[in-house]
Amino acid sequence: MFKPTLGIIGGGQLGSMLTVAAKKLEVKTVIFCDDVDAPAQQFANDFVHGEYNDQNKIKEFISKVDVITYEFENIPYETLKEINKIKPVLPKPSVNRIIQNRLAEKDFINNLNIRTTRYTSIEKKSEIESVEDLLPGILKTVTLGYDGKGQHPIQNLQDLNSLNIDYSKGYILEKLVKLKKEISIIITRFDVRKYEIYEPIENVHEDQILRSSKIPAEINRKILEQSKLWAIEIAEELKYVGTLCVEFFIDRNENLYVNEIAPRVHNSGHLTINAYNISQFENHIRAVCKLDQLPIKKISDAQMLNIIGNQIINYRDKKYAENEFFFDYLKKEIKEKRKMGHLTTLIS
Ligand code: ADP
Ligand code: MG
Repeated sequence: MFKPTLGIIGGGQLGSMLTVAAKKLEVKTVIFCDDVDAPAQQFANDFVHGEYNDQNKIKEFISKVDVITYEFENIPYETLKEINKIKPVLPKPSVNRIIQNRLAEKDFINNLNIRTTRYTSIEKKSEIESVEDLLPGILKTVTLGYDGKGQHPIQNLQDLNSLNIDYSKGYILEKLVKLKKEISIIITRFDVRKYEIYEPIENVHEDQILRSSKIPAEINRKILEQSKLWAIEIAEELKYVGTLCVEFFIDRNENLYVNEIAPRVHNSGHLTINAYNISQFENHIRAVCKLDQLPIKKISDAQMLNIIGNQIINYRDKKYAENEFFFDYLKKEIKEKRKMGHLTTLIS
């Protein structure tokens, strides 16, 4: 079977895990990253260091690979579109154009008759005063946010006075959902109605950063079925190729909402490395490189704990039991709130 050389844009932990999965499948990888210390270069066959708008570096990268994917969604759409004219980019750039903009993303989801929280575009402070019924809410930048960056919880109009916000950047105001639980669904789509879907994963966030994930999620049957159907519908509508994650809210009245879509492998799916025969990373490689689609099978229940900031120091010299799997992302610098590693525990 022909195995293409895979280019991956982004060289952080997701890039590393994709690269490791590719190696297992004997797929060669080239990482392109703007960070000279990108951890993924240690596992890849080749590394191109350059800014994401450096035309010469982009050309060099393209010349080394057959197909291109990415580990994060904030690469400029124009860049992906240009690359796609020369070598295929999967998932296709138009997916990114929708998802990297929180307003376009939520419009897309609502057009499928799938529930999201209520929201509106905010371009001036005064606009918030006319949509007071969306408070308490969360004001988020429309583009470029992750791990809660660029988000401001707003209880009431008075809160706005103490915030120093440049509204010209473009914001979305979302009504706060009274959360009971959060879950996510990871799905890998290969082709029309051809996909592998993992069971829902239950997630706990602290300070808007994912802290832990577990399977099985403690949810009722209706929510289990509904979340899977919605994830399939979203992947089909996007004509998606590769691994995608849909994040959901469940409110105190057991209503299900889509929070957001990640057009890539996802932190909540790290437990699939140990808990399934085929991980979200391996499936992504299989789909974008057009390798065989094999049925996924759960090996064990599991939980995953993210290791954030200097917590990593304690984990580095710990001894682990047979059912514990520690992953160090080998990032050069420890930063507060930075994801440094994770620990997956299989539970039998
Ligand atoms: P990011 O792109 O940073 O992951 P999210 O929109 O997923 O941004 O927000 C991160 C977390 O913040 C969510 O997982 C949830 O815990 C909380 N959150 C965000 N928006 C809302 C909302 N409208 N209602 C309730 N909680 C929210
Ligand atoms: Mg999120």
